[in-house]
Amino acid sequence: MQKHGYRRIGWAASAALVLAAFAATLGSVAAQNENKALSQHAEKTQTKVVLLGTGTPRPFPDRSGPATAIVVGQRAYLVDFGPGVVRRASAAAAQGTPQLESTNLKIAFLTHLHSDHTTGYPDLILTPWVMGRTELDVFGPEGLEEMTKHVLEAWERDIEIRTQGLEQRHALVVRAHDVKPGVVYKDERATVTAFRVAHGQWPEAFGYRFDTPGKSIVISGDTSPSEEIVAHCQPCDVLIHEVYSPESVLGMPDYKTYRAKYHTSTSELAEIANRAKPGILVVYHTSGKGPNGPIPDEQLLREIQKTYHGKVVIGHDLEVY
Ligand SMILES: [Zn+2]
Ligand SMILES: [Zn+2]
Repeated sequence: MQKHGYRRIGWAASAALVLAAFAATLGSVAAQNENKALSQHAEKTQTKVVLLGTGTPRPFPDRSGPATAIVVGQRAYLVDFGPGVVRRASAAAAQGTPQLESTNLKIAFLTHLHSDHTTGYPDLILTPWVMGRTELDVFGPEGLEEMTKHVLEAWERDIEIRTQGLEQRHALVVRAHDVKPGVVYKDERATVTAFRVAHGQWPEAFGYRFDTPGKSIVISGDTSPSEEIVAHCQPCDVLIHEVYSPESVLGMPDYKTYRAKYHTSTSELAEIANRAKPGILVVYHTSGKGPNGPIPDEQLLREIQKTYHGKVVIGHDLEVY
């Protein structure tokens, strides 16, 4: 009897175990499906910052003209198009970010019209088009639409030959949008807010904030110390900011006055970062040159870290954050 009892208990226990195992299997299938859905969601919305060009007008060979890519899932958004932009984007695509293949460069934002940020514009308009891109939308301060018109006029003969000749390219579609500060672009992956920064005598220069499902990113463009940067990084995960070292020199009569009005020194950037408290400060557009060539990264870091103790890196072309 007792034995039978044991057996019954044994049966019940076995049944419970089988049920538990079945439930666990169901649970793990559900968990797997959930994980798959989550990873697919992450794949669609994962955000990374790719530095395409971290330079200035000075043509250092390892620093292409200012251009930054914010990549969210399968989509890429550019900020600025300095010289070399499309080839740097292709290099980034070859290094694991296929979203930056030239034909995917469809949405771009411009901080201001200075040539170091815009001499890649014909490249951005024409090269991906020749490779098969269908359309391009560009947003920026007043003057962008006019510049776009002039670029298209300057390459009128090329566009004519390519569309009407044997190449039979499709029509070139570029939509330029002069925008005002505020939310200038929104899709299911990114909300992009432009804000005014002070860049010397430029009547309008923008910084941008990107809000994506994964990250908030603020990029300064070119600016003297700006309250707007602090206000738009409260908080932000990544602050990409320009800088110069007071030790560097520039080839113009009164470069100290120029720089105070147009750019941000290492100590001023440290103060901004202390107030903005970004997850990481990525320094780019490191302007000027010391007596022995470019100011070394270590020196820039030393100057910033005198008073800023958060996470900071000196950015280089093709780095990913
Ligand atoms: Zn610049
Ligand atoms: Zn500038």
